[in-house]
Amino acid sequence: MDKLYAPWRDCYVQDHIKDGKSCDVKCCIFCDIFLDKVVEKDKFVLYRDNAIAIMLNLYPYNGGHVLIFPQDHTDQFYTLSQQVQSQLMIATTKSMKLIKEVLQCDGMNFGANVGRIAGAGIPKHVHMHIVPRWQGDTGFLPIIGQTKQVSVDLEKIYKQLQPVFAKEFNG
Ligand SMILES: [Zn+2]
Repeated sequence: MDKLYAPWRDCYVQDHIKDGKSCDVKCCIFCDIFLDKVVEKDKFVLYRDNAIAIMLNLYPYNGGHVLIFPQDHTDQFYTLSQQVQSQLMIATTKSMKLIKEVLQCDGMNFGANVGRIAGAGIPKHVHMHIVPRWQGDTGFLPIIGQTKQVSVDLEKIYKQLQPVFAKEFNG
């Protein structure tokens, strides 16, 4: 499980070293996505506002693997305000609709790993996963966090999804 997510952590440490900053416990890749200086397409961000963000998982289990997370840095969903909880869920269901329409998947897994023991690579900042599934992609178990990483063309999928996400979420 840890191995699945290890590239995330490595990448995020390297990013901070590259910026000339020391990386302490306050470094958080999910918090960073909300910074003004972050260029959305550089991080495969499909949508962000002042409460939530949606991005492609850089280390996906399948093509179109999306992460949805709050701006609030917390390790538990129940500490989020009810408003943010609603925004997260609405963003998740909208994302599932768009992913289905654009990528024509046959099904989806969605959910979250809360805590490292449950498979969270970045347990300090909660995030939801959506993993599109196709008939025949039976190489992995249908449980979030027990699947294997696959090689996909992030640029291509981002170009497919970004315009429809922009239209849906920005009107
Ligand atoms: Zn954070």
